[in-house]
Amino acid sequence: MPVPAEILWHPHTNMASFVPEDNPVCCRAQGTYIWDEQGRQYFDGTSALWFANIGHGNESVARAMYEQACRLETFHTFVGNSHRPVLDLMERLYRLAPLDDPRIILGSGGSDAADIALKLARRYWQVLGKPKKQYVLAREHAYHGLHAFGTSVVGDDDLRKGYGSLVPYVCRISDDNLQEVRETIEDLGAESIAAIIAEPIIGAGGMIPASAGYLAGLRALADEFDILLIFDEVVSGFGRTGEWFASELYGVTPDMTMFAKGVTSGYAPLGGVFVAARVWEPFYDSANPQAPAYWHGLTYSGHAVSCAAAMANLEFIEDNHLLGHVRELSQFVDAELHRVFERNEYVADVRSKGLLGGVELHSSVSAGSVVAVLRDEFGQLVRPCNQTVTISPPFISTIEELRSLIADIAEAVDLVAGRC
Ligand code: PMP
Repeated sequence: MPVPAEILWHPHTNMASFVPEDNPVCCRAQGTYIWDEQGRQYFDGTSALWFANIGHGNESVARAMYEQACRLETFHTFVGNSHRPVLDLMERLYRLAPLDDPRIILGSGGSDAADIALKLARRYWQVLGKPKKQYVLAREHAYHGLHAFGTSVVGDDDLRKGYGSLVPYVCRISDDNLQEVRETIEDLGAESIAAIIAEPIIGAGGMIPASAGYLAGLRALADEFDILLIFDEVVSGFGRTGEWFASELYGVTPDMTMFAKGVTSGYAPLGGVFVAARVWEPFYDSANPQAPAYWHGLTYSGHAVSCAAAMANLEFIEDNHLLGHVRELSQFVDAELHRVFERNEYVADVRSKGLLGGVELHSSVSAGSVVAVLRDEFGQLVRPCNQTVTISPPFISTIEELRSLIADIAEAVDLVAGRC
């Protein structure tokens, strides 16, 4: 029998070159630290995959989940069914939402959120009698999960190859050129475009914050040409930038906002979409006997244990004033990354926004090797996104932890460059 780590067909892993012994097996975590089965300790400089925002081992969240599972593990929310945790969560999310008077559709994660939002965008235009409006404009370097719709709009060609035909009517735009977006709209014709989808801060594509004015420019184009604007805040939502949502930091309001990860800080799978009044109104029109339904839903849309985890997580963030702490940490990270790396000969660019940072390396130094050295020799977990070493530490990190994380990255870059 193969070892269990080989039986598990790991996501985003080339199993042909996978060596189980090279990869730590995590067995315990507390706060900002994780331990593997060899007893080695690691600082979780990425909050796992951008989700462990309140840190690991939070007892108030664990207790809420346990108590919910004992009381009612879950019930479904199809055809009007409900349970108390999902309704409690609706009140809280309504209050925190990045757009006015939202309606909220739930799923289990970020890829679900992409399907929910993009299908709804097309459905909305159908309902309004404009069925030709189907194109989705998606940016270079974008990542919106990898269900079929996410795979169709992803900005990395490698992630789209080999599946035959994907969802049609998707058009790629570059990630920072408003003039090009205008020209694309004019070429395709606004009457054929349903939505523009954008991460305010590109995560997996290399930690690229939208430049000043870009998101507002997208909003203006969407208004001018009657196109829906969807923000993917799966990474940037729920406090990562020191605001509840990055769109608030940029002062731009979309028509839909996708969320996942940080809503529960990863204690249970949950994701969803905030939907603006313009989009939900035709579906809620009680005066219209022909009012349409949005026939979309997943078994675990609004799983009760996930909702209980989200409630306890959001309460923890609010009770401990973590957004203020994130703002403080962000200022430090921004200044420290620039101080340490700006004149480093191996560094092509330094970027940061909120508690998301990236050090892009020249091609002479492999970001993947730097990340491996940081893990194996420094006990620091960071992530390579293309040639960018990215950090996204938990909100409960201390300045000291982040100072040593950044210092260790600099040392690891030198080490790897010296070995090249
Ligand atoms: N959108 C963004 C911006 C993401 O970074 C991710 C996941 N990293 C997703 C969507 C997909 O989320 P999930 O993996 O939970 O399906």
